[in-house]
Amino acid sequence: MKATDPNPDITVYFNGRYMRLGDANVNILTHALHYGTGVFEGIRAYWSDEQHEMFLFRAEEHYSRWKSNCGIIRIKVEETARELCGITAELCRRNGFHENVYVRPLAFKSAPRVGVQPDDRDGMAIIAIPFGVYLDSEKGLHAGVVSWRRVEDNAIPGRAKICGAYVNSALAGDEARRNGFDEAIFLTESGHVAEGATCNIFMVRKGQLVTPPPSDNILEGLTRDSVMQLARREMRLEVVERSIDRSELYVCDELFFTGTAVEVGPITQVDHRPVGDGTIGKTTARLRQLYADAVRGEIDAYQHWLLPAGMGVAAPA
Ligand code: PMP
Repeated sequence: MKATDPNPDITVYFNGRYMRLGDANVNILTHALHYGTGVFEGIRAYWSDEQHEMFLFRAEEHYSRWKSNCGIIRIKVEETARELCGITAELCRRNGFHENVYVRPLAFKSAPRVGVQPDDRDGMAIIAIPFGVYLDSEKGLHAGVVSWRRVEDNAIPGRAKICGAYVNSALAGDEARRNGFDEAIFLTESGHVAEGATCNIFMVRKGQLVTPPPSDNILEGLTRDSVMQLARREMRLEVVERSIDRSELYVCDELFFTGTAVEVGPITQVDHRPVGDGTIGKTTARLRQLYADAVRGEIDAYQHWLLPAGMGVAAPA
């Protein structure tokens, strides 16, 4: 599958200015391009035809996570999380999007010179592009454990969405797809289940909803957090963060991925074995629906997760 390039005429935010995507370029010697010294984020914004409004999902928390994770590689993002939300809303307005959008903030070491040691020159961009379904999970996904291991916290912290760490995810995703799977499952160096290449993982077993803890080298996903809250509050489920053995994947009742892009993605086969009876499980289906309702503002108790972009407000010329 070949992805189409985004329209170069959309407006992006780059180093403090709004400009055309086609004009937002970097020097070929940029530090981050050579050494992976950037930190990115992924945020979804959902368009509501009914309300003629765009809703950013947990945007302030995404930006707070981004800012603190930038600190791991000593990149300073000057804007507050709230200001970054404002810039994102402005991007939605300037582009006049009337469909679901994916927002990609990126901060990076920007000095144009050779040498691994970074200096304090940082670049920053926020790009918003129309975005639909990421992994078609309507009928359930087939996931496979890959031979690559998840990056260790003491090598490259996986919790931080560091650009260079995504070589790990790219290798895993590529191996999984070439082997006929829809998505990869990473193990840690100690052999426990960590997460997917670009998503967290949950299992239903013995009446509990189980997911690996942050200390198993996962990214602390906001979708993961949303699903844990929905499971506890709306379904009264017991949610447990603990290490998961590989073989538990083969004997559990249900499995699913979570992530901004994948949302709640049911897994119906793992390593060529059916999960449960091989169809989408009841708990998974319910959580998937609850999440879909919450992101579209259909559950009052979770309205605070949504930030309207103010699409009715005129964009500056
Ligand atoms: N793990 C990895 C490696 C990811 O790239 C992502 C996507 N951000 C996730 C988990 C899910 O995180 P979130 O729910 O915050 O999007």
